[in-house]
Amino acid sequence: MASEVRQVGILPADDQGNGWLAPLPPRAPRPLLTGEQKADWLVIGAGFAGLAAARRLAENRPRERVVLLEAQRVGDGASGRNSGFVLDLPLGPGFSGFDPAAARDHITLSRAAIDHLDEQVRRHAIACDWSRKGRWYAARSPRVVEEDLVPYQREMAAIGEELRWAEADELKRRLGTAFFSRALFQPGGALMNPAALTRGLADSLPANVTLHETSPVTSLAWDNGLLATTPGGSARAPRLVLAVNGFAREFGFYPRNLVLTAISASVTRPLTAAERAALAAEEDWGVLPARGLAGTTLRYTRDFRLVHRNRITFNATFRQTPAEMARIERVHRDGFQRRFPQLAAVPFTHTWTGHVALARNQAPGFGQIAPGVFAAVCQNGPGVTNGTISGLLAADLATGQDNPLIALLQRRGTPSKVPPRPFYDLGVKARWLKEMWRGRSER
Ligand SMILES: Cc1cc2nc3c(=O)[nH]c(=O)nc-3n(C[C@H](O)[C@H](O)[C@H](O)COP(=O)(O)OP(=O)(O)OC[C@H]3O[C@@H](n4cnc5c(N)ncnc54)[C@H](O)[C@@H]3O)c2cc1C
Repeated sequence: MASEVRQVGILPADDQGNGWLAPLPPRAPRPLLTGEQKADWLVIGAGFAGLAAARRLAENRPRERVVLLEAQRVGDGASGRNSGFVLDLPLGPGFSGFDPAAARDHITLSRAAIDHLDEQVRRHAIACDWSRKGRWYAARSPRVVEEDLVPYQREMAAIGEELRWAEADELKRRLGTAFFSRALFQPGGALMNPAALTRGLADSLPANVTLHETSPVTSLAWDNGLLATTPGGSARAPRLVLAVNGFAREFGFYPRNLVLTAISASVTRPLTAAERAALAAEEDWGVLPARGLAGTTLRYTRDFRLVHRNRITFNATFRQTPAEMARIERVHRDGFQRRFPQLAAVPFTHTWTGHVALARNQAPGFGQIAPGVFAAVCQNGPGVTNGTISGLLAADLATGQDNPLIALLQRRGTPSKVPPRPFYDLGVKARWLKEMWRGRSER
């Protein structure tokens, strides 16, 4: 590719409502990129994918220099504002198309990602409330139990993953809510504070990585290598890992393959001793919905805050209006009060939205996509593990490391095309409405 320049379209501008940042100590972002820098490697995007890629590149090539460019502060993007589930099982209940071989591949890749994160948390003593306590997949309506949880348990059992049933009385005792009729418990994976983990990963990168925050790449050029330009300067390198999730479209990659979504969450202040007594629950747990798209995710954090995540909307603008955010908060409050009527007076302190790219066929944007450019984008639902493993493997692929997991990730294929607009918008909206209707009991 000789002398091509791509102007980047929409830049990230996440809202300032991320409640996971609130309890963390202040941290000064790394300096923005200035002047004309030269490196051996560029990584764009410092979410789970970019942080893993930069670390692995630096480890694979200890004498080479890696420049990592992040448009916002680390922790501001989806990786720092998710629900903090580090997931090992594929898809979850409520999705169709179980394929045992693909599910086993998924578990192998996810557990490699979890091992990597677990090792970093321990080695660098990252204070992110990392816990290996397992999680619940919970349903309210008996119909959803039959249609989603029962088949999921059967499918997981077929590949050797045992999930245990819990009934309403146990759930009330452990979670402090009588909302659910039945749930499956899965002991794997981890829970954490995602803003604390991403910051901790960024602040423990090897010495041959230079991270520049608040440095959005506004253009990418192929001209005697790759040249990334930001408002304050530029960085040049022969090779690049692109780890910008759905913003890959804004760089001209996967232009018709990404389903761009907005996912929102709210969090309460820490419960008082009296409120904790009224909740009467165990500490530190996570609940995922039996119907993935329509349902609600809950966390009870180690500092006694309740996180309520529901609402996934199709959103290709990467922006929310204040009116939309106010509406989201009302939806969250309504769901929260139905689950925890004993805490109806406890306010949310933060409501936020993050942007996540999905593919219709659940495939990642992974591999070499242009001269010198390797992708680790489009992480679909479980992006903490998907992002981490695709970043690690993109770095291995780019540096020629022989890693058998690369073939497993490549077997997932590449994101399939979406229909042209306006059919795409109509199709996605129709599917969304159908899922919301199917899952109306679980909201
Ligand atoms: C509310 C919510 C709840 C979720 N819950 C979970 C969960 O519990 N478990 C789970 O596994 N997943 C969850 N997810 C999904 C998960 O957060 C994402 O899939 C994952 O973080 C993707 O990681 P990533 O590194 O690929 O992308 P991102 O975290 O999106 O990182 C991409 C980075 O690229 C930067 N960037 C983009 N454009 C540019 C540019 N031009 N120049 C420089 N930098 C740029 C962005 O600022 C961003 O920081 C949730 C998401 C949301 C929003």
